[in-house]
Formats: sequence, structure tokens, C-alpha cells
Amino acid sequence: MSAEETLAQVSKEVAICEKCVLHHSRKKAVPGEGPADAEIMFIGEGPGFYENEQGRPFVGAAGKFLDELLAQAGLKRADVWITNVVKCRPPGNRDPLPEEVATCNQYLERQINAIAPSIIITLGRHSMGKFMPGAKISSVHGQMRKVGDRYVIPMFHPAAALHQASLKPAILADFAKLPNLLQEARKGLGRAEKDDENSNASRGDDAQQLSMF
Ligand code: URA
Ligand code: SF4
Repeated sequence: MSAEETLAQVSKEVAICEKCVLHHSRKKAVPGEGPADAEIMFIGEGPGFYENEQGRPFVGAAGKFLDELLAQAGLKRADVWITNVVKCRPPGNRDPLPEEVATCNQYLERQINAIAPSIIITLGRHSMGKFMPGAKISSVHGQMRKVGDRYVIPMFHPAAALHQASLKPAILADFAKLPNLLQEARKGLGRAEKDDENSNASRGDDAQQLSMF
């Protein structure tokens, strides 16, 4: 199965999943979205009100802020994959319970393996806990660490930074470091920079091909 097919299959399963109690409170499941070959994958906590309505991740106030943070790193939403540790909205936006996160983890694992991102960015402590159990977000945020064969950067949750003004400079600074950390992760994984349609190299190729006709 190609990465696209695996991701589509996971989304299909999530839409009708009844493996944990969160399916009772969902309107639309939120499997996540992005390009299958994304180099960066964001993992948040769980769908909120608007995500549950639309079936898409980070479309509310936290999502708007995430778009600004991505811009800070020279990235657009279409460049990255975005999902959550639980795919269905916890009632009243309560925290997802450990057993719900554990049950939903099979979907997240399949998504991570299909995408094979160079960097996973955890947003908030629920997704950080999957990779760095026991870590304190206030001391490790913005620091990239190799976990197994992936690079992981824990960051504050954008919603937390919206509600707690003192976190805003920290999350902005962490996103600003992202281009350099991406270079570092690529090097560590022996991966080349992804082909960019706008890069000089591919423009050169196109020009050469055109000149042949
Ligand atoms: N907060 C999250 O953690 N995830 C979303 O998709 C939206 C808000
Ligand atoms: Fe299934 Fe995950 Fe939704 Fe629970 S949160 S019902 S495990 S998709």
C-alpha cells in the first residue's frame, strides 16, 4: 500500500471507529490531513468544537495561531501533516484519558509510519508524553531529540500560548528555529532536501527540458 492509500484507509476506519467512548461525543472524526510526503508532522491533543463540526484539525482559534507560527518558520499548512493523539472530540473539551490515547494510538502509529516524517512536533503534553514520558514541557520545549529513528521536538500547545501570554515568545522562538532543525534532522537521517518546485535546481531542469522542444 502506498502512503496515500494507508492514510486514506486510516481515515476511513477512524470515521466509523467505536473502539473508545469518545465516539459517543463525536460529530465528525478528525483523522488529520496533509501531504503524504510531509517532512514535518504535528501532533496535537484532540479535536475541539470547530474541528468536530468540520472534521479537520486545528481550524479554530488555536489553528489560526498555528498558521501564524508556521509562517514564522517559512511554512504553510499545505507543507505539513497535522493530527491529534485522539481523533474524536472529548466531551466539553476535557483532556483525553490515558486509555483513550492508548486505544487511538494504533491509528497514529500507522499515520507516522506511512508519512515517515523527518520531524515530529508534539503540541502540548498529551502528545509529548508518547515520545518523552515524564519530560517537563517548560524545560524541554524547542529542543530536538532523536527518539528511536525519528526526531521529535516538543512544543507548547498553541491554545496554551493563546491563553497564557508569557508562553507566546517561547513558542514563536521555537518555531523560528524550525528551518535550522529541519536541516539538522535531514542530515541526521541522511535525507536530501525535498525537491522544491521553486528551487533553482528544478527550475533549471524545466528550462533545459523546454529548450529541447
Ligand atoms: N487543539 C488540538 O489539540 N487539536 C485540534 O485539532 C484543535 C485544537
Ligand atoms: Fe476510535 Fe480514536 Fe475515536 Fe476513540 S478517539 S473512537 S479510538 S478514532
